[in-house]
Amino acid sequence: MKRMFVALFLLLFCSICASASEPAITTKKISDNFYVFYGGGGLGANAGMSIGEDGVLLVDVMKDTTAPMLYAEIRKITDKPVKYVINTHGDFDHAGGNNFFKEKGAVIIGQSNAHYSSAKSDIKIGNAFTLEFNGETIAAKHVEAHSFNDMIIYFPIDNIIFTGDTFTNQSPPYSFIDGARGQLMAIEAALGFSDEETTIVPGHGGIDNASGLRAYREKFTAWIGRIKTLHDKGMTAAEMVRDAKLNEIKQRFLVINKGEEVADARFERLVARTLSSDFVDAYALPEEVRDAYPGIYRKAEGGVVEVFSENDRLFLRQEGAFMWELAPQSLTEFKIRVLLGDSIVFNVNRDTGAVIGFEGTLHGGPISAKRIAAP
Ligand SMILES: [Zn+2]
Repeated sequence: MKRMFVALFLLLFCSICASASEPAITTKKISDNFYVFYGGGGLGANAGMSIGEDGVLLVDVMKDTTAPMLYAEIRKITDKPVKYVINTHGDFDHAGGNNFFKEKGAVIIGQSNAHYSSAKSDIKIGNAFTLEFNGETIAAKHVEAHSFNDMIIYFPIDNIIFTGDTFTNQSPPYSFIDGARGQLMAIEAALGFSDEETTIVPGHGGIDNASGLRAYREKFTAWIGRIKTLHDKGMTAAEMVRDAKLNEIKQRFLVINKGEEVADARFERLVARTLSSDFVDAYALPEEVRDAYPGIYRKAEGGVVEVFSENDRLFLRQEGAFMWELAPQSLTEFKIRVLLGDSIVFNVNRDTGAVIGFEGTLHGGPISAKRIAAP
């Protein structure tokens, strides 16, 4: 009986079946001036569109492969030119379509740290910016939660906020770059733009509101708290994913896909990443030692990376590629915060104390570099 029903269903909805293997973008009209495009199904992240007398402005542009589909959806609504793209951050599922829309004439706006991601932007902004467009003052605030180049973007007329991946209602959290501190600051920044009527669009999942975001903050705090308790007991990520309480907390995050499961591998990875961002052993690096490492380093396999210090923290970054925090473990050894098992060790000339270079692993592969210049 059940099988017959399924067969009948498939017959009746075969057009949907075709689109199930080839996902389509779902469009939601917020007002005559504002639309939201749902990613998902491998298309990329959610995107937004402001339309008005100045033209079209997009928030995020899905992947490079799906940007033409997004453009086709836009053209069903308006033939006005796409003037600007603002990225919530530089990840490929949000900013992969930048080049496509740049070729269509758009100016790409990104946070300046996106320079150290695969995304390219024409205008790089710092901590905050505003843009007068279509009769409103669009505002953006820089936070560091999911990446070093996150931006919370606010459109006052339609009272709508884009959080990028600093918020989701379909997964346990994937905000790691600055651990719980960064995640909570990002939530505060989004709530700072919000009232009870605000539409909040997460990077992935369905549209939400301030109470959904506050609930996310509670769930996040429970997630961190439980992982801390289990970590204090000496448990690994693989052991933690069998903890009933943590499983219950995990399920709370699935607001949109209630009853769905998070794949075990993904669950363990998210727990491991939380451990790797929030529960890395900290070694108190003396200031003079920290000041010795910044500089320009040439990688053995080609390319140049930079070590720099900011707010008493050390970072490693490469243009067009990556930016990571170095978590000191000893005078010379650093774990790459967030990147699980990756770490580097600086080589120091024992006689002169000069830093020669470093070696270790990054993104799971070997890396070695020679210092070629001071900052
Ligand atoms: Zn994303």
